[in-house]
Amino acid sequence: MLSGISTNNAYDYQLLIKHIFNTPIVYNPDQEIVYRGEKRFSYAEFKKRVQRLANLLTDLGVKAGDTVAVMDYDSHRYLECYFAIPMIGAILHTINIRLSPEQILFTIEHAEDDVILVHHDFLPILEQIKGRLDIETFIAFSEDGVLPHTTIPLQGEYEALLAKSHDVFNFPDFNENTRATTFYTTGTTGLPKGVYFSHRQLVLHTLGSLSTLASAPKQGNFNQGDVYMPITPMFHVHAWGLPYVATFLGVKQVYPGKYVPDLLLELIDTEKVTFSHCVPTIMHMLFNSPKINSIDLSHWKVIIGGAALPKAMCEEGLRRGIDLFTGYGMSETCPILSLAQLTPEMLACNPKEQSEVRVKTGRPMGLVEMQIVDETMQLVANDGESTGEIVVRSPWLTEGYFKDTKNSEHLWHGGYLHTGDMAYRDAKGYLKITDRCNDMIKVGGEWISSLELEDILNQHASVKEVAVIGISDEKWGERPLALVIVDSLKPTTEKELLLHAKEFIKKGIMARESMLMKILFVENITKTSVGKINKKELRNHYKTL
Ligand code: AMP
Repeated sequence: MLSGISTNNAYDYQLLIKHIFNTPIVYNPDQEIVYRGEKRFSYAEFKKRVQRLANLLTDLGVKAGDTVAVMDYDSHRYLECYFAIPMIGAILHTINIRLSPEQILFTIEHAEDDVILVHHDFLPILEQIKGRLDIETFIAFSEDGVLPHTTIPLQGEYEALLAKSHDVFNFPDFNENTRATTFYTTGTTGLPKGVYFSHRQLVLHTLGSLSTLASAPKQGNFNQGDVYMPITPMFHVHAWGLPYVATFLGVKQVYPGKYVPDLLLELIDTEKVTFSHCVPTIMHMLFNSPKINSIDLSHWKVIIGGAALPKAMCEEGLRRGIDLFTGYGMSETCPILSLAQLTPEMLACNPKEQSEVRVKTGRPMGLVEMQIVDETMQLVANDGESTGEIVVRSPWLTEGYFKDTKNSEHLWHGGYLHTGDMAYRDAKGYLKITDRCNDMIKVGGEWISSLELEDILNQHASVKEVAVIGISDEKWGERPLALVIVDSLKPTTEKELLLHAKEFIKKGIMARESMLMKILFVENITKTSVGKINKKELRNHYKTL
C-alpha cells in the first residue's frame, strides 16, 4: 500500500470465494438449481442452505484452517460445500471416490481431514478402512433423507442437520491467499499427489475463464442465457471450476448425480441444458446410447478436455448439431489453460475444416502464458511442426504438491510449471498436444505420437475405441501397439486397419515407421479413475507381448 494515499476506512477487498457468492453478475434469486430432475432449489434457497451448512460445521467445531472432505456424486449438496467450506476459512478436500480404499485412506490422512461428508453409497469404503481413520465427525448424504445403517459413527443425516441449523451466517474476511481447496492427482507414477488452490486463485480462475468464454462472439460461448450441467466429476479439479463460473453468472444449474447415460440425455432434453463439459469417454458413452437419436442437441455446447478430442468424435458431434470444442488443463492448473474456440472466419468453414481447429489444444486464456520449450528451456519455433514441452505461468497454478518438496521443485523448475505435455504451436497461436512426454513412442530413432495414431484409427468406421502404446522391440527399440475395440456390426481385420493408416502416411500426416504398428483386437480398454485411457497400466499389461 502506498503510504500517504491510503484511507484508513477503505475496504481492503480480498479475492475471496464469498465475493463470487455475494455478487453474481445477475441478481437472480428465483433462478433454479436442479438435482437429477427430482429436486429444485432457487438461488435464494441455495444461499440459505450454504449459510445453514456454515452454521452446522462451525457448531460442530470446524474452524479456519481445518479440512473438510466430501465424498459425493455431482449434486446440489456438493455445490453447497464448494462455497460454505472455504467461506468459513476451512479447506475443502474433494475425495476421488473412484480410488481404491487404501488410496482413499492415504489421501484422507495426507490431507489431514477433520470431517467427512459422505454419500451413503460410499459408506462401505469408509467401513473398510474405519479402524485406521482418525476422524470423529461424519455426516451422511442420503437420497431419501433417511439416516443410513452403518458402523461409521454419524453425526446425522445432512438434510435433517441443515434443517436444524440457523440460515444466517456472517462470512468473515481473511487473506485471499488462504488455502481453499485440495485434492489428489492420480498421476501415472507413485502415490497420489495433493494439489491445492487459494481463494485468490479460484476467483481469478473464475474471472479468467468467464472472460474468455463469455467474450466469444458466437461459438464456444457461455453466457447468461445458458443452462449449465457438468459431466466431469466434482471431485476432480473443481469440475473444471465451472460451477463457480455458473454461480457467478447466475444461470440455471443442473446436477446429474451418478452418471447414467440415459439420465444425462434425459436431463439435457427436459431441463434444456445448453452448456456442459466432459472427457471423450463420456461423450463416447452418450453417442452409443440409442436414446441420443431422439434428442435435439443443436443448442448444446460442450468443452471436451482431460484427453484429446478425436476428430471422428468432433465430426459426429457437429453432425448432431453440438458445438464441440477442446479445453486443456490439468489438476495442477486449477485447471483451464486454453480453449479451441473458432475465430468468426473459421465459423464460415465446413464442418471438416472446423474440426481441424476444434480438436486442437487451443489458445491460452487471458492471463495464461504458455510456452513451448526444448530440454534446455529454449523456445521452439511457432511453425506448426516443432514440438517441445508446454510450460506455463498464470495466477491459478498450484504452488506445489502438498508436503512434497522434491516433486514440487521438479514441477516448477526454471520458474515455469512443467505440464509434461508435448505440443507444437501454429501461426495462428493454436497449440496442439502431440503426446504426454512419457507416451511418445520411439521407433528406430523416430518419435511417433500415440495420440495421432489413435486419432487416425478412430477415423475408421469399424473402430469403436482405440489406445496406442509403445512396446519394446529388439530391432526398433519400440514399436506401436494399437488396442482396438471393434464395432460388432462392422467387423474388420488388422490388414484393413493398416491399409487405412497407410493412407495417412501417403499424405505425409504420419511417419512411415507407424506401419510397424501391431494391432490387437480387445474387449475393453483400462481407464483411470477419471475415465482416461490408463496407458501406464496397459504398458505394464502388454509388456511381454
Ligand atoms: P489430469 O491432471 O488428470 O486432469 O490430467 C491432465 C493431463 O490430461 C494433461 O497433462 C494432458 O496430458 C491431458 N489432457 C488434458 N486435456 C487435454 C487435451 N485437451 N488434449 C490432450 N490431452 C489433454
